[in-house]
Amino acid sequence: MPFSERNQLRNHFVLGFVPFGGCFDDFIKPFIEEMKQLEEGKIMDIQGNKSLVIASIGDITADLPQGNDMAGVKRHGATRGCRTCNATKDSWTANNLDLLLISRYKHLADKQFEEISAAPMITRCKEIATEHGLQLQPPILDYLRWERHLQSPQDVYHATAGKVLRLLKMTIESFTLEGKSAFLANWKTFEYPRTWHKLPNPISHIDSFMMSDCLQLAMIFPFILNRFLKHHHFKQSELTKLQHRMGISRNDSATNLWIRCWSVVARTMVTVFKGSFTEDDYVELRECLDNERKLLSQMFEEFECLLNLHINFHLILHAKNYATLLNTSVGMKEMIHRIFKNIVPRTNLKDVSLDLLRRYNTLFALRYLMDGGTDFQSSKSSSGFMSISQHLKRLMSDWFIAKDKKVNVMNDGNEDVNEGINN
Ligand SMILES: [Zn+2]
Repeated sequence: MPFSERNQLRNHFVLGFVPFGGCFDDFIKPFIEEMKQLEEGKIMDIQGNKSLVIASIGDITADLPQGNDMAGVKRHGATRGCRTCNATKDSWTANNLDLLLISRYKHLADKQFEEISAAPMITRCKEIATEHGLQLQPPILDYLRWERHLQSPQDVYHATAGKVLRLLKMTIESFTLEGKSAFLANWKTFEYPRTWHKLPNPISHIDSFMMSDCLQLAMIFPFILNRFLKHHHFKQSELTKLQHRMGISRNDSATNLWIRCWSVVARTMVTVFKGSFTEDDYVELRECLDNERKLLSQMFEEFECLLNLHINFHLILHAKNYATLLNTSVGMKEMIHRIFKNIVPRTNLKDVSLDLLRRYNTLFALRYLMDGGTDFQSSKSSSGFMSISQHLKRLMSDWFIAKDKKVNVMNDGNEDVNEGINN
């Protein structure tokens, strides 16, 4: 298939896996075996034509620890716990990182894995693994063709929400009682967009904030602060700490810096979640990410050497590789997960994977028909929608395994449509 057709959106499939605490390697083995066959190419019958179908892995997304596991890198508590580069923990937010020099490259990591497996003693194996921040064995996905460090991009959704939640907690902690009540008063009266759901109280319910709540609040936070914030709303000890770190003497400057910090975070957030990028947008993205990293790590000790902030270095690369950061964000996976999870209670739980597959196939068939039955990848159009009433019963029944419930495929052209819907 030519590249122009291969890169069509419909040739990419999002697959979600939820091992529910099971061993990932055991869980993913059947998938790896099937993908291996598809990498070699499989002859399939497509609309009556025998076609060679080839598929391979495009990208994996996961939260931070699981993503590191899948790339064969130690978790983020380790000295070299970043799956995209070799930077050590103490320099994660440093200004002088030379990314080209310290990035993880597959051919180099391959050699390091060989070195680990060739070591004579297990203690030596562990030493070498620690030195490189790698696991003792290459990840199971290495059975497939993939570039483990490029095709496992960092997740912008978790990283951004993590940063915002940390800053939110720190800001609220730094307020005096008067500061907290002034904040709440302004938070309650803020003119929210009508489509937003009501946010929980950020002072009393901060622990039940979900990631999406954090992101929503971060959008309006600088505006709220700008409306009321004065230096006496902060505990003096917090202002002194900040003045000391930033080398400033006035309380007002420290307060303004706090507002500026929130506005930089909010602006970065808007940029990283953009749905499309022009060349200028990529430049802006780099500037925002750099500004945010520098300002947060300079202002607060809690952000120094924080992996979520270090990821800012890599997001620009991921954005360029995958066009946007949304394409590879876990938010996409979470949506697929939610759709499937909501389907499960509506099945009869006899054979969930078969039911899900059946439902998924049906939805795809419906989407195809809704689109006018035309598939741009084949020149044939379908008359499926014209005769949908004749096939409705077959389409809508038979979703779940049940006794004595067979539909005669040969006769379903004569079926009663209403009966089909009620079934
Ligand atoms: Zn890194």
